[in-house]
Amino acid sequence: MAQIDLVELTKVYPGDVTALDALSFTIHDGEFFALLGPSGCGKTTLLRTIAGLETPTGGQIRIGDRDVTRLAPGRRDVAMVFQDYALFPHMSVVDNIAYPLKVRGADRRTRAAKATETGEQLSLHGLMQRRPAELSGGQQQRVALARAMACHPKVFLFDEPLSNLDARLRLEARTFLKKLQHELGVTTVFVTHDQAEALALADRIAVMSDGRIRQLGTAREVFRRPADTFVANFIGSTPMNLIPGELVGLDASVIWGARPEYLGFSATAVDGALRGTVSTVEHLGATSLVTVAGDGFDVGVTVPEAQEPAPGTDAWVIPQPDRVLLYDAESGALRAEPSHQF
Ligand code: ATP
Repeated sequence: MAQIDLVELTKVYPGDVTALDALSFTIHDGEFFALLGPSGCGKTTLLRTIAGLETPTGGQIRIGDRDVTRLAPGRRDVAMVFQDYALFPHMSVVDNIAYPLKVRGADRRTRAAKATETGEQLSLHGLMQRRPAELSGGQQQRVALARAMACHPKVFLFDEPLSNLDARLRLEARTFLKKLQHELGVTTVFVTHDQAEALALADRIAVMSDGRIRQLGTAREVFRRPADTFVANFIGSTPMNLIPGELVGLDASVIWGARPEYLGFSATAVDGALRGTVSTVEHLGATSLVTVAGDGFDVGVTVPEAQEPAPGTDAWVIPQPDRVLLYDAESGALRAEPSHQF
């Protein structure tokens, strides 16, 4: 059982920099949990604080039924994989994988057996006597994973472990990591600034900014119902449409929000649709992002390849009422009103 409970967890660095602002939430046993946010939002500090590499200024961390807030990193039963893998360059693959077992006092034979077994699980057999410099980036990453797995920790902590790989290998490594985590069932906390990576990998995502959680939810929840305009802007490969306006009869300034993927497109008139002219067409592969310029607004809509319009033609953009969101213009927070009042 390795649930992680954070209670009012706070970290203030010298110079009065609040990196973690009284965070309280639970990461469930066996969950793949992503910490997502822009540079400087506090995600690495949070991961390092869970690992015991940073001391919190206030609050508590519990792993399973133990309060680990003041425990040394080696006694927390966690394994961390760093962005640069931090492999020992002078050691062979097998010795790198076995190193944490050595630190824990395992004898030579146990170390060799466990390291070989874990290396095989990650398809590293045949490479066990090589040094890290003689491996590809993807292989080095698997050695770092094997080293983390060798001690059977209760928790994996990953600090952007895919960011040093090229785009194609990164996608392969992502699929591999997801499968491995599913098979092992080990509670995993994964730091990334890449929203696509978080959506693809995580059971739940915490979107952070300025040391706080903006939204915590499943990938689907944060994509479909961003809690505020910050999350709406941050999540999604094509930007969410956010158009300022007024609520009819209520004298309230709001922002109308709709993802391009959740809007329909028509080249002929449709009741209730937004009318405009096609200004640009960006090819995304099987779909295109079409920008429609209307009276005082621009709106992006995703259109299947076969339906792609030509720039300059008339266009009607059809909102799906249950997929349109209204945000408060001042605070940016999601409002409860239905969008037809816009
Ligand atoms: P990145 O994606 O760039 O790594 P991050 O979201 O992981 O960013 P952190 O590294 O956790 O962010 O930093 C959070 C805040 O704390 C930033 O404002 C950063 O400048 C500050 N910070 C981090 N480490 C220290 C330190 N040792 N001393 C002082 N301030 C620090």
